[in-house]
Amino acid sequence: MNHISLATVLSLGTTFVFAQNASGPPAFAYKGADGPAHWGDLSPEYAVCRTGKQQSPIDIRNPRNAPLPPIRFDYKPVPLTLINNGHTLEVNYAAGSTINVGGEQYKLRRFHFHRPSEERIDGRFFDMVVHLVHTNDRGEIAVVAILMEKGAANTSIQKIWSAIPKTPGQERQVPGVQVSASDFLPPDSSYYTYKGSLTTPPCTEGVTWFLLKTPITASAEQIRAFAAIFSPNARPVQPLGARIVQSQASN
Ligand SMILES: [Zn+2]
Repeated sequence: MNHISLATVLSLGTTFVFAQNASGPPAFAYKGADGPAHWGDLSPEYAVCRTGKQQSPIDIRNPRNAPLPPIRFDYKPVPLTLINNGHTLEVNYAAGSTINVGGEQYKLRRFHFHRPSEERIDGRFFDMVVHLVHTNDRGEIAVVAILMEKGAANTSIQKIWSAIPKTPGQERQVPGVQVSASDFLPPDSSYYTYKGSLTTPPCTEGVTWFLLKTPITASAEQIRAFAAIFSPNARPVQPLGARIVQSQASN
């Protein structure tokens, strides 16, 4: 038998268990015995969560100004395809949308949300963050992180939220609904950048992070609606170590 049935998972009575392939990666959580402090011990394939020296997220302090190229966004509308994976809402993005940074092109693969934001700026965190996950032709990962704070409602989020499966399950396409990641872009896309990792197990390193300096807004009601389905899902900030965070001047 390949899958634990959803009924079985729900009957376990904890919000931190999620449906998974029995032969797939081990479950992790955001608190308790399977929480972030223990991720590196849950499985040998998660070891870098504990041993890594370039982990994410981080608290951005004293970044170094640098003449960095702008991010050229080319995000197109796609049919809404999403999954509640037990930790977050993830939208899988159809092919054809890219960013280009200094001649390096990355394709947008998916995006998902964290509450509160995982990244901090001078110690301050934000209400939420959306992570837009890209890969280039060599399989290298670049994540664009866009902070969200309480304010005006976001229309794209409204469309996505109205289709969130309330319980973990399989990916589904929502008939007749299109979304565009371009709706998340603030007017100024200047950024901080550094080398880090995935913020969930297996915490793979070699990820190029672009944290946009300008937050976007979501309404208090939209933030509450996400909180009603997903427990807090931010990994604590990790040591910067020998890394340097670079800051791009405003575009
Ligand atoms: Zn993320």
